[in-house]
Amino acid sequence: MSSRPAPPTPHRTPSAEAAPPTEAKPSHFLRQIIEADLQAGTYASRRWGGSPGDAAHHAAGAPDPARIRTRFPPEPNGYLHIGHAKSICLNFGLARDYGGVCHLRFDDTNPEKEEQEYVDAIDAAVRWLGFDWQSGVAGPSDSHRYFASDYFDFMYRAAEYLVQAGHAYVDEQSAEAMRANRGDFNRPGLNSPDRSRSPAENLERLRQMRAGLHPDGAMVLRAKIDMASPNLNLRDPALYRIRRATHHRTGDAWCIYPMYTYAHPIEDALEQITHSICTLEFEDQRPFYDWLLERLAEGGLLQHPLPRQYEFARLNLTYVLTSKRKLAQLVSEGRVSGWDDPRLPTLAGLRRRGYTPSAIRLFAERIGASKSDSWIDYATLEGCLREDLEHSAPRAMAVLEPLKLVLQNWAELHGSPDATERCTLPALPHTPEGGDVALPPRQFLLGRELWIERDDFAAVPPKGYKRLHPPQADGGPGNRVRLKGAYVIECTGYRADANGHITEVHAVLLPGTKSGSPGADSVKAKAAITWVAAADAVPAEVRLYERLFNTAQPEAGGADFLQALNPDSLQTVQAWLEPTLAQAQPEQRFQFERHGYFVADRHDHSPARLVFNRIAALKDSWGK
Ligand code: ATP
Ligand code: MG
Repeated sequence: MSSRPAPPTPHRTPSAEAAPPTEAKPSHFLRQIIEADLQAGTYASRRWGGSPGDAAHHAAGAPDPARIRTRFPPEPNGYLHIGHAKSICLNFGLARDYGGVCHLRFDDTNPEKEEQEYVDAIDAAVRWLGFDWQSGVAGPSDSHRYFASDYFDFMYRAAEYLVQAGHAYVDEQSAEAMRANRGDFNRPGLNSPDRSRSPAENLERLRQMRAGLHPDGAMVLRAKIDMASPNLNLRDPALYRIRRATHHRTGDAWCIYPMYTYAHPIEDALEQITHSICTLEFEDQRPFYDWLLERLAEGGLLQHPLPRQYEFARLNLTYVLTSKRKLAQLVSEGRVSGWDDPRLPTLAGLRRRGYTPSAIRLFAERIGASKSDSWIDYATLEGCLREDLEHSAPRAMAVLEPLKLVLQNWAELHGSPDATERCTLPALPHTPEGGDVALPPRQFLLGRELWIERDDFAAVPPKGYKRLHPPQADGGPGNRVRLKGAYVIECTGYRADANGHITEVHAVLLPGTKSGSPGADSVKAKAAITWVAAADAVPAEVRLYERLFNTAQPEAGGADFLQALNPDSLQTVQAWLEPTLAQAQPEQRFQFERHGYFVADRHDHSPARLVFNRIAALKDSWGK
């Protein structure tokens, strides 16, 4: 049974009310956990200080208007990809569905790799996907966009507390000794000689670390837990390291930085996160997450109920890479044109490719959340795109590999070779009744010279070929096809150059067969072909994208993904388009009939230079 989202509550946000109705959402284990927590009132008594803060700050606040709090916590060290979209849709979607809020939190505790450019790109990607950190739960300007680096003071204060309480110590062992003494799955670790120092001695050293009295790497602050724990993450994990690096927000204020495993639980707690959802590889970190927050709650720095961590399977999608680091490599080595290359699974790349936010949200909804790793076929994502665009993308004709066709009886029928005739086709032929898209029909010309697809003609037709071919040596007639939206024509011959390359196809138009006229069906045609008239077609650059990798799992068995790069992943053609496309706006999407879905490139397309990207081919339904 699929469970419906909770009914509207007084906490429902204006934006949640404005959200379009969604299809029934499939339940999954995270929904069940949240529903059980809401039923049990696990978080009902929490208070919210109006901003992130410690126990005292929140205790002085009002009852939390958010029934749950989730967060999306990217590290600003690259552009977001489709895997992040899964996490964004999950976290923002759960908050929306259960009367909660979702925080956008930049996890910027690692100064070396983080940059403002990435912060801006992440903001843009989250907004583009249709989510918002302005929750409206506690008033119109209730913004939940946070930076972990704003918590550095608290994190340090917490570190001093842990030292004073005997839960942490400064270790001066070398990195190698520390590694060797950690043990492994078969061997318990060995206590550091520094482990038995008094809290006062440790506090003095921690303060020296912070004051910059020691070089990088000279010592670290470690939790004092259990060097024999079967969970290696509990063998006195490092909490702080010395690193003289300029941080993109705090500059040189700090020369020590918290480790991710220490910082992350604290960030969640200061923000009163209820359900901290992360990927499965953090499962073994959960005991430390709980240990740390319990110790800080004992010290009165945090208050119960504490955040809880839940793990779900990360998205693995065939034919792409979902790792910022590896995507960064493709970008920095110039294998692609940039972070927004339409072949990349970054949200910037998918956007430029023409994917819609709603297709990506539909995809995230469909794949749901589970606790076991699996691979999702790229076709699932393409299917969501087609579903989204099928009833909304206006149709247009485009000839991608043009071959000239001359209607030999045109002048005779029209009195002049230059005469033209107006044709129309609906912009959206199959819009379901009650659909809200009402677009005027498309208008275009028919004339003596046309452009057709090169493979819609065969001088010697293969068996069963239904499109244009000339009369055959055995006396068989030239074939008849319908020019979509116009007349039936019959092929009479062709011209080829000295190499046998076909340069021109000849046909005659059969009068009285125009689409929509009473005689339209008087002559049978075996196929309909797409075309544009030389008189009004507009030229365009069309970028035909294929998969960036040749293999579904470019890294399977430890393979080097660079070896799997598809050298033909981009083919650029000069096409002729129906004139309606001259008005296309950047990012406007169309279905080029018989070819697939295309978008006007958001960077390069302009009225003076039309540039379209293929988003996805149509399902192959045209046969021979
Ligand atoms: P990457 O390895 O690509 O850098 P990451 O996990 O290190 O990914 P973060 O910026 O730390 O990147 O991720 C932010 C959030 O997105 C995390 O909560 C993480 O769990 C989630 N996330 C990242 N990749 C995926 C994925 N493939 N599927 C689902 N969630 C993901
Ligand atoms: Mg990471």
